[in-house]
Amino acid sequence: MTQRQRVCILGATGSIGRSTLDVIARHPDRYVVQVLTAHQRVDDLAVLCRDHRPATAVVADARQAERLQALLRADGLATEVLHGPQALCDVAAAADVDSVMAAIVGAAGLSPCLAAARAGKRLMLANKEALVVGGRLFMQAVEQGGGALLPVDSEHSAIFQCLPEDRSSWARRIDHIVLTASGGPFRERAPHTLHEVTPEQACAHPNWVMGRKISVDSATMMNKALEVIEARWLFDLAPERIRVVLHPQSIIHSMVVCRDHSVLAQLGTPDMRVPIAVGLAWPERVVSGAESLDFLKLSALTFEDADARRFPGLQLAWESLRAAEGTTAVLNAANEVAVAAFLERRMRFTDIHRVNAATLDAVLPEADETASVDGLLALDARARRAAERTVLELG
Ligand code: NAD
Ligand code: MG
Repeated sequence: MTQRQRVCILGATGSIGRSTLDVIARHPDRYVVQVLTAHQRVDDLAVLCRDHRPATAVVADARQAERLQALLRADGLATEVLHGPQALCDVAAAADVDSVMAAIVGAAGLSPCLAAARAGKRLMLANKEALVVGGRLFMQAVEQGGGALLPVDSEHSAIFQCLPEDRSSWARRIDHIVLTASGGPFRERAPHTLHEVTPEQACAHPNWVMGRKISVDSATMMNKALEVIEARWLFDLAPERIRVVLHPQSIIHSMVVCRDHSVLAQLGTPDMRVPIAVGLAWPERVVSGAESLDFLKLSALTFEDADARRFPGLQLAWESLRAAEGTTAVLNAANEVAVAAFLERRMRFTDIHRVNAATLDAVLPEADETASVDGLLALDARARRAAERTVLELG
């Protein structure tokens, strides 16, 4: 019998974390849940521990660890409970873990991703912000560690599935890639009314049920901007080789246009369990639980250009990629602060772009800040402070 893959899920209580547990539960012969982590939702994590019996669980701080410990003890579970950011790095690199699902939201996931990459784990990456901040350093850590990096973002998984396993041929093969975007809940809304939208409206995505941060990012299309940056690193592409097209049905998950202009696309129902199953099983394939596409029931597949007046943030991807290295980290930090301020009703939806643009103007990365994780985290903190100042001015 082959050894079962021991999986650590960072961000287990989130949307991607739960979908990962759903896929894993279909294959007890292939996967073992080794570690589950959560930030605040201790009660939810306790339920997940009861169902999946991990060896280790990690929460944010000592108080929560004590509470989780008590809940688990009441259930007679022997799960070891750890806490804090260092514990996330430790479990991601632990000897009894084979693969890591990076499903934390935001730059908070950078250090554990780097720890997993350096330790040569199979790293399944949903946490796009970690790569947007980490950039070159992140890819170097993957190379040094020698493990596989498997994209879980549906678009990047699509591109990955359209490419051969041998990475060394990718540059010769690809003319450009086309990332598809649903356009989110406001694709048809009059741009001059966008200042009125509420967090509830922004989080009501037509095709996907996701965490609140990525839902707002989909509504502004900053999610696609982050994905353009993510693709630059994952596939080592110059920014001009990455294009975006709106495709409201979310059936084609992205496309590779080859040198000979043959186009390869990956299709499927919009269900994150597919890219998660690809990440878990690659190069094999396993049942994901997603429904199969019914071509006879499909409506038309349509495509349109993204309107720059409605989605001014999209362009910031190419602008920040062409600016000094580290500028994408500034953009990500600004956007995390701006989305949080919008969700807390401290400013308007349309202010998100204002905060992002103003922060990019105010914060210029210095050369030594992109050379180390500490430098990147300092740059991230500097950008967050600048973004907070703009939020206060706008509020
Ligand atoms: P979510 O908000 O549902 O879950 C986030 C998880 O991260 C939770 O388990 C939470 O406890 C944990 N977390 C939050 N802040 C943390 C911190 N500071 N330290 C440690 N843990 C923390 O988010 P999600 O929708 O599951 O998205 C997770 C990541 O996957 C994001 O980067 C998102 O962009 C990406 N992604 C999500 C989807 C999707 O369909 N949900 C699709 C593609 C990519
Ligand atoms: Mg995506």
